[in-house]
Amino acid sequence: MRPADFTLAAGPISVPPETLAALGSPILYHYDPAFIERFRAAEHRIGAIYGTQSHEIILMQGEAVLGLEAAARAIVRPGMACLNLVSGIFGKYFGYWLTAMGADLREIEVTYDEAIDPDAVAAYLDAHPEVEVVAVVHSETPSGTLNPVREIGPICRSRGVVTIVDCVSAFGGVELRPDEWQLDLLVAGPQKCLGGPPGMSLMAISDEAWALIAKNPDAPRGSFLSLLDWKEQWHGAGKFPFTPSVSDLHGVDAAAALLLEEGLDASIARHAHVAAACRAGVRGMGLSIWPAREEIAAPCVTAIRVPDEITDLQLRDHARAKYGVQLSGGQGAGPIIRIGHMGAAARPMYPIVGLAALGRSLLDLGARVDVGAGVEAALAWLSDSADEAEVSLAAAGLSA
Ligand SMILES: *Cc1c(COP(=O)(O)O)cnc(C)c1O
Repeated sequence: MRPADFTLAAGPISVPPETLAALGSPILYHYDPAFIERFRAAEHRIGAIYGTQSHEIILMQGEAVLGLEAAARAIVRPGMACLNLVSGIFGKYFGYWLTAMGADLREIEVTYDEAIDPDAVAAYLDAHPEVEVVAVVHSETPSGTLNPVREIGPICRSRGVVTIVDCVSAFGGVELRPDEWQLDLLVAGPQKCLGGPPGMSLMAISDEAWALIAKNPDAPRGSFLSLLDWKEQWHGAGKFPFTPSVSDLHGVDAAAALLLEEGLDASIARHAHVAAACRAGVRGMGLSIWPAREEIAAPCVTAIRVPDEITDLQLRDHARAKYGVQLSGGQGAGPIIRIGHMGAAARPMYPIVGLAALGRSLLDLGARVDVGAGVEAALAWLSDSADEAEVSLAAAGLSA
């Protein structure tokens, strides 16, 4: 079967030629000094994309789910009070791991079109000083929403609580400042906004998180899931705990180098710009975005409410079969179809392709939408708008 003509999914996504070339570069022995140099360069670049001076960067060799499970295993002791913030599928899922590790699980859960209220977190922590860990998802990819980790971090740090942040889909495309926002253990993936291949977990870990891990006698050692092995053996003694995924590392490093060459702020602005154009197109077509409020809509993916009588999977499959455009369904978060704006797909004409394929598929399946008006609204946004992303970065005091 032919691959899709356009991959506008919510990751993995198409990667640029430079990254493909790196993935196909010679396989090196892992203690070849050239590979060690490349591994350290990749750690450095990932640290730069995290924008952290203080966190230790650990690159684990496996899809980001490995990093998330490793984080839970490293930190959670049986009976430990953990507050899990649930605003979507990935947050809910993380709670199952916390429970599996023996945590005394508490949850603040909101509907999956909403975001966590930082005041509710503060109030819960004040009433329950026994809580040692808060877990939160930065960008809830299946429902296309963002959580206010910028506010949640300081609320937790000031109460001595360690945060675990799933920033898999936000990394490289959404503003994230672990140092200033006082976030502790962050897990990212390369196959989303970074625009790299799937297969690695990119982690940033604060001293506060390491201190909590040190209190856990059962934190894995001698295990594929061990953060401590990477810290002690690789960073401590220059020995890999096991053979790293050489090709994946090359691909991730190339993707990171490309992003840094473009500039982190430029990448963030690009994702915001394209997502805003897509939302304008959704409205113009007569559809609504899934997030309850525009302010919480994620820049990395636009989640759109699917009209009654049509399922997300029908729609996804139709757009792929008839128009060669790969969209994403809602992964069970609701009647949602998603247009991804990740990495190379976060460029102006991609949402136009996504909107056209989505709109025409909806018509084909019997829904009533104005495809032309939607496409025109997105184009008009791209053409007319002052770059919304630049404006918001300037407002945040971040532009040059
Ligand atoms: C993509 C993603 C992951 C990784 O999960 P996969 O289903 O293996 O892709 C974890 N968390 C979030 C928020 C993600 O978007």
